[in-house]
Amino acid sequence: MNNKELFEKSLKYVPGGVHSPVRSFKGLHTTPRFIKSGKGAHIMDEEGKDYIDFCMSFGPLIHGHQDPEIKEAIIKALENGWTFGACEKYSLEVAEYIINKICFIEQIRFMNSGTEAVMTAVRLARGITGRSKIIKFNGCYHGHLDAMLIKAGSGLAGMAEASSKGVTAQQAGDTLICELGDLNEVKEVFERLPNDIAAIFIEPLPANNGLLIQDQAYLQGLRDLCTKYGALLVFDEVISGFRIGFGGMGCKTGIFPDLVTYGKIIGGGMPVGAVAGPKKYMEYLAPLGPVYQAGTLSGNPVAMAAGLVNLKKLTPEAYAKLEKNTVNVVNIMKDWMIKHGFEDYQTIQYGSLFYPISTHAKLKNITQLPANMNERFYTLFETFLNKGIYLAPNAYEVGFCSLAHDEKVQQELKHRLWT
Ligand SMILES: *Cc1c(COP(=O)(O)O)cnc(C)c1O
Repeated sequence: MNNKELFEKSLKYVPGGVHSPVRSFKGLHTTPRFIKSGKGAHIMDEEGKDYIDFCMSFGPLIHGHQDPEIKEAIIKALENGWTFGACEKYSLEVAEYIINKICFIEQIRFMNSGTEAVMTAVRLARGITGRSKIIKFNGCYHGHLDAMLIKAGSGLAGMAEASSKGVTAQQAGDTLICELGDLNEVKEVFERLPNDIAAIFIEPLPANNGLLIQDQAYLQGLRDLCTKYGALLVFDEVISGFRIGFGGMGCKTGIFPDLVTYGKIIGGGMPVGAVAGPKKYMEYLAPLGPVYQAGTLSGNPVAMAAGLVNLKKLTPEAYAKLEKNTVNVVNIMKDWMIKHGFEDYQTIQYGSLFYPISTHAKLKNITQLPANMNERFYTLFETFLNKGIYLAPNAYEVGFCSLAHDEKVQQELKHRLWT
């Protein structure tokens, strides 16, 4: 069956044909590709067409598809069984490895996804502070928990409404929305509700609605406001963690959150999420503390073995190479785009993330994204796809480079673009 036939069949059995909405190619004039295999920086669909992959499973595959050492670790762990629902050594090793390298965390709890990690962090922040409201920023994504499926409402700064049906008005009322980059707005919310805010949640490198790089002074301002009002600062580093250097944006900026959430890279492509922070906060979690959290498959040996090898391979040299790969990829794309009708584009790059967007404006929040970005993206996406270059299938998603996007792949990219 070709991609189209597979998708038509899938539509019959699965809502929208997909198990996560962004995979549906909604609004694009082509069908989703059914991926049969991946190796290094390449994926191949069921029709045998090869693509250079810049989606990389939306981030986890920092070493590329089927990294041989990670694969070996998975196979080795499998030989001994794949879940025990009991203590096991790999998760201990991952915990120790991470904590010894990141100065602002002393304890970590593993779970199965970024969503679970944020969900736990929300409950934990509320449990620690005894407060119920949280601040979230317009354009930051934190997974699909109710507390975070909230968008800005009209009226007062911080007022909000649900962005999904099924989220109650009460839940929406506990999440206050601010625009990224505007410290005064956050200050106003704290002044209005000085004793009600449990935590600020932010992607310190917002990368889910384009790449909206924030100023150091802004992040520091949020840190100071949290300290002043007794709220927790939570960095959602599900994308940026282990990508912008091992210690993510916390270590990169030297601005330390009270809690941090991880996902994506931490499991090396297996389902892992985590919450981490100082012992005094983490001890609020069950079984020690009053905040409940649990997971049947949490810290399972296969995922943890993959995560461990994956993280151990992330040396300073690896990060230098990753950055170089990304700069080269971005330059190759830019050169081609400027001469082929995409002069309205800029490509924003930070570490191994890049974001082609049809405006030259400096972007700090989502209100600055251009109105016609969807149509422009469809043209770019489909041109790339036809040339065997796979971007994440949505105008708001960033591109992910990996260590597998090496000189050879860069040459292939250049060749595919120009022919
Ligand atoms: C992907 C993502 C999540 C959700 O993680 P899942 O594993 O998809 O549940 C949460 N926060 C951020 C910043 C993310 O990028």
